[in-house]
Amino acid sequence: MRSRELVFLMYHELERPGRPTCQAAAGYVRYVVPEFHFRDQMLWLRSNGWRGMSVGEALTFPKGPGLAITFDDGCETDLLVAAPLLKQIGSHATFFVTTGFLGKSGYMSISQLRELAALNFEIGCHSLTHAYLCDLDDKGLHREIVESKSRLEQILGTIVTHFSCPGGRYDLRTARVVKDAGYRSMSTSRIQRNSSSTDPFGLGRIAVLRDSTPSAFQAICEGRGLWKSKFRAGVQDAAKGLLGNSVYDRVRGLLIRDA
Ligand SMILES: [Zn+2]
Repeated sequence: MRSRELVFLMYHELERPGRPTCQAAAGYVRYVVPEFHFRDQMLWLRSNGWRGMSVGEALTFPKGPGLAITFDDGCETDLLVAAPLLKQIGSHATFFVTTGFLGKSGYMSISQLRELAALNFEIGCHSLTHAYLCDLDDKGLHREIVESKSRLEQILGTIVTHFSCPGGRYDLRTARVVKDAGYRSMSTSRIQRNSSSTDPFGLGRIAVLRDSTPSAFQAICEGRGLWKSKFRAGVQDAAKGLLGNSVYDRVRGLLIRDA
């Protein structure tokens, strides 16, 4: 029998009417899900009996329909928009925070982050400055993975055990540093479901995008048609390999508009 496989959803900032997003570039906004879409998605999960879990819970692979819900970056909408809707449907989730963004415009302040943690949501680390980890030397990796962990733990007064990679990008060296730092898992953007035999330092996640339709969302939750997401990401990866990360980011807006 195949072991139980779970989908890990990946969200970023949510959009509330009249509220500017943290960044305006097309490559960023593509990942910003409008509040009313997010609400519909959460209500669909509840009405279909899906259990929304944190990464820590999902890694115990409990029985029954369920998936992990994660947010990257630490935007203010984590607390203002996502948290109340998650509470409304009785769902847990993990919020991965870029420590160096705390207090910046559009991102949570330290007190907002503590408020989110006090609501019983799991807080994970999403690096210090959102640098692409594969591009860094050992000192840089230490700063982004180890120092950011201690800083977050000082703020929260608890141990932080889950990490997610900025831009989803990682390699074996990154995974080793994350493991040695004392984290229990590393979430990436690999498009795959996870099972108890998946390496916890290479967990897959599926991005929910601005243009994800209700049927596309339902398919993602059920782990159907992941090849479509893979195909789109494969085209992006090919471009990254060809151009390098920084050039890729500059032209990404154009690529997305053309897609
Ligand atoms: Zn990020």
